[in-house]
Amino acid sequence: MIVILRSDVTDAQIDHVLERVEALGFRAHLSRGTYRTIVGVIGDEQKIRVDTLEAIPGVAQVVPVMPAYKLASREAHPQASIVDVAGVKIGGGYLAMIAGPCAVESAEQMDIIAGAIRAAGANILRGGAFKPRTSPYSFQGLGEEGLKILREAGAKHGLPVVTEVTDPRLVGRVDQYADMIQIGARNMQNFNLLSEVGQTRKPVLLKRGMSATIEDLLMSAEYVLSQGNSRVVLCERGVRGFDKVTRNLFDVAAVPACHALSHLPIIVDPSHATGRPDLIPACAYAGIAAGADGVHIEVHHCPEQAKSDGPQALRPAEYAEVMVQMRRLAEIMGKTISVPPGANS
Ligand code: PEP
Ligand code: MN
Repeated sequence: MIVILRSDVTDAQIDHVLERVEALGFRAHLSRGTYRTIVGVIGDEQKIRVDTLEAIPGVAQVVPVMPAYKLASREAHPQASIVDVAGVKIGGGYLAMIAGPCAVESAEQMDIIAGAIRAAGANILRGGAFKPRTSPYSFQGLGEEGLKILREAGAKHGLPVVTEVTDPRLVGRVDQYADMIQIGARNMQNFNLLSEVGQTRKPVLLKRGMSATIEDLLMSAEYVLSQGNSRVVLCERGVRGFDKVTRNLFDVAAVPACHALSHLPIIVDPSHATGRPDLIPACAYAGIAAGADGVHIEVHHCPEQAKSDGPQALRPAEYAEVMVQMRRLAEIMGKTISVPPGANS
């Protein structure tokens, strides 16, 4: 921040400004000009408020410098960005309704789920082929075979597909099959992966890390943008909390906060945020009411047999009910749920 002092500022006031800046935990750099004196405030700009400094006697104006995430910032791009995923628009008034199982398990499973979510009104199919599991003994995904199954299910039901990439070496392969590449919470700060995905021209679904601040999330988006890929969609999927009642802590305020700081679309993922099917509908609605550009929900036709994240999956009929309410909310919010181009209705 740059603190510009009044032209009639006294030496005592200057000393007081320096003292206050340092008392707030920042370093102050004084620069006396012929007509104006300014103080450079050095430290994490997110931790200091403009009005706190503006209230100090002798201060004329406080000017924040550009955020470190220049390309992702609103200043750089005042208009909301619209990301096009094979014809499905996200952001700027268009909502993504992403649904599907946590993991691709079989062609039959994907066919059933894709048909059901398409009928309910979803516009993008999800399914993990490379699963980042906390335990090395858990199901790791079907790999390339899973990518093929996902692609086929998407093509059959007229839905673009999104799937996660976990390793920079796999980006090329995932790029071949996916319409959108997901970077999961556990990899949000895998900078090599971000850069590699930034070199593709595929839309990217960037999930917030479990302990990531909003600034961290925007800095990760900056990695992708800085490589020339401007098609980033952020995803609030909950952060680690202290309460075991929910899997994570759903930070719905991140939605309007990101919109204020960045032009990038942001969707919510109440499935990973809560881990509880009974809480997913309310959090999905809250996300839309907060201005989210879409909702990502895990759906499985037989959650008890799911190989990953079964307990948090909605059944197709439950998803269809949630979609009815989300459509109503979208209308209230003046938003449009993009119709997938492959849809026949
Ligand atoms: C997922 O989408 O299945 C997933 C692993 O999500 P997250 O990275 O948000 O935990
Ligand atoms: Mn999952």
